[in-house]
Amino acid sequence: MEVKTSLLDNMIGVGDMVLLEPLNEDSFIENLRKRFDHNEIYTYIGSVVISMNPYRSLPIFTPEKVEEYRNRNFYELSPHIYALADEAYRSLRDQDKDQCILITGESGAGKTEASKLVMSYVAAVCGKGQEVNKVKEQLLQSNPVLEAFGNAKTVRNDNSSRFGKYMDIEFDFKGDPLGGVISNYLLEKSRVCKQPRGERNFHIFYQLLSGASGDTLSKLYTQLVVTLHLTPVLITPAVSLYVLSQNAMQIVGFMEDEVQLVLELVAAVLKLGNIEFKPESRVNGFDESRVKDKNGETIAYYARDALAKNLYSRLFSWLVTRINESIKAKTRHKVMGVLDIYGFEIFEDNSFEQFIINYCNEKLQQIFIELTLREEQEEYVREGIEWTNIEYFNNAVICDLIENNQNGILAMLDEECLRPGTVTDDTFLDKLNTICAEHQHFESRLSKNSKFLTDHSLPHSCFRIQHYAGKVLYRVEGFVDKNNDLLYRDLSQAMYKATHSLMRQLFPEGNPAKVNLKRPPTAGFQFKASVGGLMKNLQTKNPNYIRCIKPNDKKAAHIFTDSLVCHQVRYLGLMENVRVRRAGYAFRQPYEPCLERYKMLCKQTWPHWRGPARDGVEVLLTDCSVPAEEFAYGRSKIFIRNPRTLFTLEERRRA
Ligand code: ATP
Ligand code: MG
Repeated sequence: MEVKTSLLDNMIGVGDMVLLEPLNEDSFIENLRKRFDHNEIYTYIGSVVISMNPYRSLPIFTPEKVEEYRNRNFYELSPHIYALADEAYRSLRDQDKDQCILITGESGAGKTEASKLVMSYVAAVCGKGQEVNKVKEQLLQSNPVLEAFGNAKTVRNDNSSRFGKYMDIEFDFKGDPLGGVISNYLLEKSRVCKQPRGERNFHIFYQLLSGASGDTLSKLYTQLVVTLHLTPVLITPAVSLYVLSQNAMQIVGFMEDEVQLVLELVAAVLKLGNIEFKPESRVNGFDESRVKDKNGETIAYYARDALAKNLYSRLFSWLVTRINESIKAKTRHKVMGVLDIYGFEIFEDNSFEQFIINYCNEKLQQIFIELTLREEQEEYVREGIEWTNIEYFNNAVICDLIENNQNGILAMLDEECLRPGTVTDDTFLDKLNTICAEHQHFESRLSKNSKFLTDHSLPHSCFRIQHYAGKVLYRVEGFVDKNNDLLYRDLSQAMYKATHSLMRQLFPEGNPAKVNLKRPPTAGFQFKASVGGLMKNLQTKNPNYIRCIKPNDKKAAHIFTDSLVCHQVRYLGLMENVRVRRAGYAFRQPYEPCLERYKMLCKQTWPHWRGPARDGVEVLLTDCSVPAEEFAYGRSKIFIRNPRTLFTLEERRRA
């Protein structure tokens, strides 16, 4: 290799998968492993960054590293998330382009950590005035607040985000941050009442119970409840985390009395968990918990849980709104959106939540295909450069199966939920089977891509979908209920009657003066609308991709499990990504800036080239004796096949 650069160091594998020889799934994974073994957790596919979770702290996120990557060419140094952050930030600041950073990967792969690294990098390289610093601090501190209320320990991740998050960081024309706006997606509220084995409730409950002073706790009357749903819980780290999240709330701009109101509602949720219902008896002096019979008991528990879940998720949404009030800028020039959202989920038992999450991932995959792969091809066509068509898997048909307004699965679920008469999960499934099967039958004559899979091996009360990431079996139990997401009217009214100002605010529909007979929109409908909005938003921005992979499922350092990595490489569509990248030219640049940058390398173009920039670039490259097959001349841009060529030019510039 003539040019020794960090991207091409054989010992540690290649830094850009585009340079991998030979290219196949095995070599791809082998390359990741080689790099992982050498603490190289980042690898490129062109401009996409693959990030492997090291599960230990590496000395690569220091202020010195920030300086190293600052204002450097993307391919100049070894692959790093900072290079992506720098590129995105400079494109925003210097070229006035809105950016979005799309971070995907499965639970525990490192999405949230990656989003924080991007945010802290941008915070480190942008302006430093007193006002700007306050904004930065508020933006960064919104993380611990949301993590306290929206994250929980799961079997996959000790700090698992149980909600999707998109944050627009707003900048002025100089590239200094002015503020931010956060959107949250689908908090996993069922966790409030029930956690899978080995998992915990949201962090805030533990933080409060073990971190708050006795005085605070007695004000919240929570001493009684510690024994219930949360046992065994009192672990020490939660103590300091309590202090941390309380400080963060303060920095973000919560008033003391607001914090108190929030904690009171957290305590209220805890107390709800403590209420028991027994037939015809008095429990703990709670008159209200008397019910007539077993049947009534079941309904009472159901109502209690529905209330706890609703109260908590509304509180969470209120927190997001409140944070936005505090951090949102009055004006803005450009934005950088950071999306940290749940990855594809295939469990043994998949329910409504997985269905919704996987739908969101289909949409993200679609946008990935649209923005990266298709644009790649379209640009070649636009530029008049020869392109041999690459087949890629287009998942539009799966999105349609789920979201089509007439006969999509979500529409059918809504229709069933709104239908008078007896509606059960099974009636929904019957409908699905009939309509999808018909639809598929019709479709299958047109294409072989049936994504709604029916066969005799299907277990009872289940349906199966062929997602882009694989087949997933969904159990319909709970679909109707979760989609309806109804709260008994008397409960909202009771909450509205409370003397607690925040509680009243969270249950506006309980106001008897505003009885609204219209049904609230279903959970599926709301989610589809918010995902639709998100996609529209992302489409207007310049995308930057971080694809996170976890090397093992033990949350352990140094272990790299091939099969697990392989699975993720597949469902992130990474091989496809490299194939498309390699099929053509890894780099392209408009003629003017290219000539401007390298004109010093050639006597004929230095100091001025008179004539079209395209011709200048041709003279320049010929003069530098770069092999002709390394280039293609497009209508407005020069296309460079191999990053190495670029390095050579860069090195000559510096020499
Ligand atoms: P979820 O979907 O469950 O929210 P996630 O993809 O957001 O998962 P993270 O919470 O970012 O995952 O990462 C899980 C854990 O992995 C972190 O708590 C941390 O211990 C470790 N980790 C992730 N990224 C890094 C990193 N760059 N350096 C060191 N440790 C890391
Ligand atoms: Mg996370």
